[in-house]
Order: sequence, then structure tokens, then C-alpha cells
Amino acid sequence: MATTLSGLVKKTAEALFHYAGGTSFLRRRFDSGVRILMYHRFRQTFRFETQCAHLKKRYHPVTLTDVAGWLRDGKPIPPRAVAVTVDDGYRDFLETAFPVLEKYQIPATVFLTTDLLDRNTWLWVDQVVHCFLASQARAVTLRITGCDQERWKLESGDQRMQAATIIKEALKKIPNEERLEVLEKLPRLLGAEIPAQPPASHAPLQWDDVRELARRGVEFGAHTRTHPILSRLSGSGQLEAEIVGSKKRIEQETGMSVEHFCYPNGTPADITPEAVEVVKASGFLTSVTGTGGVNFAGADPYALRRIAVEPDREDFTFFRHVAGYEPAGRLQRR
Ligand SMILES: [Zn+2]
Repeated sequence: MATTLSGLVKKTAEALFHYAGGTSFLRRRFDSGVRILMYHRFRQTFRFETQCAHLKKRYHPVTLTDVAGWLRDGKPIPPRAVAVTVDDGYRDFLETAFPVLEKYQIPATVFLTTDLLDRNTWLWVDQVVHCFLASQARAVTLRITGCDQERWKLESGDQRMQAATIIKEALKKIPNEERLEVLEKLPRLLGAEIPAQPPASHAPLQWDDVRELARRGVEFGAHTRTHPILSRLSGSGQLEAEIVGSKKRIEQETGMSVEHFCYPNGTPADITPEAVEVVKASGFLTSVTGTGGVNFAGADPYALRRIAVEPDREDFTFFRHVAGYEPAGRLQRR
């Protein structure tokens, strides 16, 4: 009841903000800025059509290549420009998002984690959640450097989900080798198997899908090969293998130049100056982060801000966030 009531209050406040002119005020205030939207999954998309209609009516959808031309070469960009980006390369983009984007003629850039497509495997963060949810264990002991908790109760779905969430975040903060060791032993510890093939809900795009989508105007960017946290890799060799490796794989498969990069997880702690140097030296024109905000003339093309959105978000919340409202500390990570 309390949740329902607070939800209702929030909804009402958002509607009031909108009808009192808050959304259009923000939109005008950031008129000259470029918004880059960050989507991930498209499981529940019943609001996505309203979102696309709103973008088409109130903004000017552009490509990331248009944004690169504006920032790097001073080419003009329309006011209230918005670019749609989608991280990771799940197949639900093709099945549910693309038909709507195509209907509204909204371009999009999809960032591919190329080992997912090459090996038909799934993201390591999804595998962690799967292991915990599939486990029959009542508790588990797992030590991760920097994580205070060692003993995890797994007696309910909530406890298993909570453990998975904390462990996922802890794994993002440790050296890559250590993360891989934990991932290796996780199924045995939890008595849960990780299917070699991802379940349909986590299936990645196939290369044939990528070629077909590219033919129909979707831009593809690189998002590393295995989705590691770049700041936790050791040495430039690993950085190059992940960053250049993913770029080359997409270019091999599509025959098109890959000009945009997306940092996994994308918070400032996940990105080092060395990683940015490798991105620049690899011939990318832009790279996007998970730091929220609107981009203005003079912005660094290798540290572009994005606005985290979800296809099932309440209409007024979506309108407000796209307009430029950024609550403190709100970062959508993947
Ligand atoms: Zn990602």
C-alpha cells in the first residue's frame, strides 16, 4: 500500500512538473545541446512507441556520425538534436525496437560486444545473476577483494538477487584476472550450470542480423570483445585486444567502417586515460560513457555524456529525462 501510494504521489508530481511547463523549460534551456540516449534491453516495450513519437515530435533525431561531424568538423547540427544508442547487442533490439524506430525514421547506433555474437554466449553480468537465481544452495561463502561481506544467505529469491547484485558490482572493481577466476568457480560454488548457449531472453544478435540492420540504416559501434571493465585490465595489450579486436570483428563482418566506441559500464572509475588513448589511436571518431548529461559545443568527442532511459519508463519520466533533467548520482550501468 505504501509503495502504491508513494508511486501515485511520484506520478502526480511528474505530471504536475510536465503540465506546469517544467519539461518544455528544460528542453528549451538545453536547446543547443545534443542528447544521446542510452538504452540496453527491450523486453517490455509497450511505452516505446510513445517515446519514439515524442522524440520525433519534440526533437531532431540524428546519428552519432552527425554528432562526430558537429564536434570534430564544426558541421551544423539541428537544435534539440537527439541520438539513440543501444548497448551490448541483444537480439531484442531487432525483434522489438527496430520496427518502431524504422516506423518513426529514428536512426540508432548499436554497440556490439563481439564475443557474444562470435561464440553465441552471454554477458558475464547476466551469467552471475543466472548462477544465483538457479542455485539451490541455502547459503554460500565467497570472498572478493574489497568486498566486506563473505557469507551470503540464499534462502529467498530476494536474497539471491541481492547477493548477485552486490557481487556483480564487486567484480567490476577488482583486477580482470581475479574477476575471471571468480566467474570460473561460481557455477561449482553455487551448484548451478551455465548453459553454453544463452537462453532466448539473453540471446545476442547474429552477424546476419547485423548485416541486415546495417543495410537498413542502423549504425554499429564497438563495445569490446568480452565486456571487461577497461580500468581493471593489465597492460595496453589487453586494451588493444578488447578495443581494436571488437572494431575489427564488426568491420570484417559488415565490410563497413566502425567509428564509434562505448566504454563498458562507462562510469569515470571504469575508464583510464590509457583506454581513451587506445580508442583515439584506433580510428574511432567518438566514444560514449555512462555519465549522465547533455553535450554542448566544445564537448570532448571521446567522453560523450548520455541520458539513461528504459523502454518501459513512465511517459512523463521519460519526457523529463530526455529534456535534460538529471537526478544526482543516477547512472544506468551494464
Ligand atoms: Zn555494456
